[in-house]
Amino acid sequence: METVLSQRLRQVAAYVPQGAKLLDVGSDHAYLPIALLEEGKISSAIAGEVVKGPFESAQKNVAASGFEEKIEVRLANGLAAFEPSDQVTAISICGMGGRLIADILEAGKEKLTSVDRLILQPNNREDDLRRWLVANGFAIIAEEIMTENGKFYEILVAEAGQAELTADQERFGPFLMTDLSDIFRLKWEREWNKLDIALAQVPLSNEESRSALIQKMEKIKEVLANES
Ligand code: SAM
Repeated sequence: METVLSQRLRQVAAYVPQGAKLLDVGSDHAYLPIALLEEGKISSAIAGEVVKGPFESAQKNVAASGFEEKIEVRLANGLAAFEPSDQVTAISICGMGGRLIADILEAGKEKLTSVDRLILQPNNREDDLRRWLVANGFAIIAEEIMTENGKFYEILVAEAGQAELTADQERFGPFLMTDLSDIFRLKWEREWNKLDIALAQVPLSNEESRSALIQKMEKIKEVLANES
């Protein structure tokens, strides 16, 4: 039976290059590698998982898919799941916090020189992840924002390259803040409302905290007011 991906993982899948050898870190059920093999998009994959339960469920699903020859499921922490001899060309890391994704990349960064593309889907702290990418010789080549089950998700696609980001681009995303999609607007309007509620609870005497919140809110208004 064909694997039906969530809309979130479908968007991630769209950025995996044709013919890639994929390492999916934190592969849980191995849905992404299995679906990509079913559609003939990748040549083979490694599904890396650090926790035994999800590792076993990935193994079970790979066995049921009939792709045991093409997908190796490895119990490993982050990028320890592959060696240069595996000739991995693309890495996906999805469904984790942005800081954790940055930590995983940092811990194995010497191995990334031979990888063509990173496809990352942080659940939060996208700014930390963008900062790590830029500081470590990666340029963001595409970004997506989407919503599913009431949550907002951002997808960052990066390849080796130099690109400075301003503080605003780190926070809002260089492509996302230019595209100004309806979903982007909705995300940041909600963020503005949250900050407004927080501001109402900060005593007038606490000028420092109030002014930090006000600056963040003003920046959101400024970005949303830009013409695309
Ligand atoms: N990637 C899938 C997705 O996006 O639907 C699963 C997301 S799930 C919320 C996060 C998975 O990452 C969990 O199964 C967790 O065990 C795994 N994980 C967390 N830290 C990891 C690490 N350092 N190395 C490998 N897997 C990790």
